[in-house]
Amino acid sequence: MINEIDESSAYSWDVCDQCGLDRLAEKTNTKELVCLGCKRVVKHPVTKMKMEIYASVTNLKSNRIKIDLLEDTIQSLLPEDENDEEGYDISSVLNSTVGPVTCVVMKKNNNDIFLKEIRKS
Ligand SMILES: [Zn+2]
Repeated sequence: MINEIDESSAYSWDVCDQCGLDRLAEKTNTKELVCLGCKRVVKHPVTKMKMEIYASVTNLKSNRIKIDLLEDTIQSLLPEDENDEEGYDISSVLNSTVGPVTCVVMKKNNNDIFLKEIRKS
C-alpha cells in the first residue's frame, strides 16, 4: 500500500514518438513539436513517467520502504480519464495498493530500504 509519494521525484516528460529522444522543441511559428534528434515533427509525443513512493510492506513493517516504480505500474495507478496537460492528481494515488511488484534492493541503511522495480522477464 502506498502511503506517501516523493513528489519531488514524481514527474513526467515527453519524448519523440519516433526515436525516443527527450529533446523536443516547439516551433515558434506553428507551435509544432520538433525532435532535435531526428529533426522530425512529433505529432504524438510519448509521455514518460517516473515516480518514487513510500510504501508499507506487509512483512517489512518496521522498515521505511521507498520504491522507484516502473512506468507501467505508475500508469496502472493513475486514473485513466486524467490524461490532461495538468498532469495527474497525486492524492488519487495515495492509499492505493500496488503489486505485487518485483524489485531489487538499491540501498539499505538502518531502517530505510530503497527498492527499484524491475520488469519481470
Ligand atoms: Zn526523434
